[in-house]
Amino acid sequence: MNEAAAASVAAVAEHGAGASAWVALAYLIAGICFILALRGLSSPESSRRGNRLGMIGMGLAIVTTLLTHEIASLPEIAIAVAIGGGIGFVTARRIAMTAMPQLVAAFHSLVGLAAVLVAAAAYLNPLAFGIAGADGIIHQVSRVEMGLGVAIGAITFSGSVIAFLKLNGNMSGKPIMLPGRHVINLGTLAAILGLVAYFLTDQSPWVFFLVTALSFVIGFLLIIPIGGADMPVVVSMLNSYSGWAAAAMGFTLHNSAMIITGALVGSSGAILSYIMCRAMNRSFISVIAGGFGAEAGPAGGGEKIERPWKRGSAEDAAFLMSQAEQVIIVPGYGMAVAQAQHALREMADLLKAEGVRVKYAIHPVAGRMPGHMNVLLAEANVPYDEVFELEDINSEFAQTDVAFVIGANDVTNPAAKTDKSSPIYGMPVLDVEKAKTVLFVKRSMGGVGYAGVDNDVFYRDNTMMLLADAKKMVEDIVKALGH
Ligand code: NDP
Repeated sequence: MNEAAAASVAAVAEHGAGASAWVALAYLIAGICFILALRGLSSPESSRRGNRLGMIGMGLAIVTTLLTHEIASLPEIAIAVAIGGGIGFVTARRIAMTAMPQLVAAFHSLVGLAAVLVAAAAYLNPLAFGIAGADGIIHQVSRVEMGLGVAIGAITFSGSVIAFLKLNGNMSGKPIMLPGRHVINLGTLAAILGLVAYFLTDQSPWVFFLVTALSFVIGFLLIIPIGGADMPVVVSMLNSYSGWAAAAMGFTLHNSAMIITGALVGSSGAILSYIMCRAMNRSFISVIAGGFGAEAGPAGGGEKIERPWKRGSAEDAAFLMSQAEQVIIVPGYGMAVAQAQHALREMADLLKAEGVRVKYAIHPVAGRMPGHMNVLLAEANVPYDEVFELEDINSEFAQTDVAFVIGANDVTNPAAKTDKSSPIYGMPVLDVEKAKTVLFVKRSMGGVGYAGVDNDVFYRDNTMMLLADAKKMVEDIVKALGH
């Protein structure tokens, strides 16, 4: 037996035994903090507490890991944390709220890449990671963990890069359909699984690196056929993958905090994907199989038919809303771009002072990220009890005097209910057209929403278009309400 190797194995074993009880306790507490954080994040009232608990748990996990692991020296880790943390801090401060999905996709790609790099480091130096005997033969169970970890990590990395490019507009949001893609994808997946199984009998570098390369390829192949309309689900699905990749690496590193955190991210991402699929009335399998949103509407080059529509002014809107018994505000992506939420709350306050009942209707995929509208309305201190989810408020539009749609489009499009050829067909939508009057704020008649389709509500008799930047229009309405 090689003496240095034996000493290394003994050191790992001794270190693990000595510190393990305290380390396990600290990781357990961190895990409990993460679970409570997820619980807190499930409602706007408790989300701040949830965030704080998450930060405490992560702080505890990081400090425990730094104090008890000797793979790298503390100054080296501090330098790496300072560089990574600095870049993350500056990026997150600078990023516009509307570009959040791209940022999230970019972050997922880093988690995937980190899993690949950790797996590669463990593969190249198994003794340091304590996953091999002194003869350098990697334990069978570690080979499975490593093989799966590197595969999921590589899929997450390349898939997230494509999702980033699509969301950021560097690549067309339209599905790119390769001929025979299902056969190619299934063949590649089968090859990856076969190679991971073969890795159990042969730990040669070509097996490990071929698994890695094929997984990079399949991540790319899986995401390119997915159309823009399904991107929200893809982002949350990649979030889930990144969690599973981290959990697999947690096994390799014998780090229970990583296993717990990875499993929490993996399962909560999977649940979120499922909830979003249900909100868009899509099956998870059809999202993964891709191709949704292939036929774009006017934005995709189709003919747009000119139809008559009515234009209104801020004064008209102020008059109509002040006479109403109930107004339902439907915010969307345009409100986020214009940052109109504060002016909107001011408008709602003035209406309430005149005895009007004001409610907000939130579609689950309004804006560009899950919970986008809730975050913005919370930022503007809109009371939570005025904010309603689609299923809780949709039946109220028929008894409402004014639906005030501000920068939303796809989430109000009735074509989703009736037009089988529409890319958003099947997605539940807010029934704004059932209100007595619809006030629709957007900048121009030509502009379309994310799915690139025209909206029949613009041309209905009970609709008045308020064409302007959302913030400017609401500020003008506030002025008109204040006389
Ligand atoms: P849409 O993208 O359908 O529509 C946005 C509307 O806002 C457009 O009509 C646009 O028209 C208008 N607008 C843009 N800027 C301004 C501005 N400054 N002032 C006033 N109006 C403006 O938004 P929705 O929120 O209705 O729908 C969300 C869509 O995004 C769905 O298709 C969803 O699937 C998709 N999506 C959702 C994600 C999520 O997680 N929530 C993530 C990724 C995609 P005009 O240009 O004429 O002003």
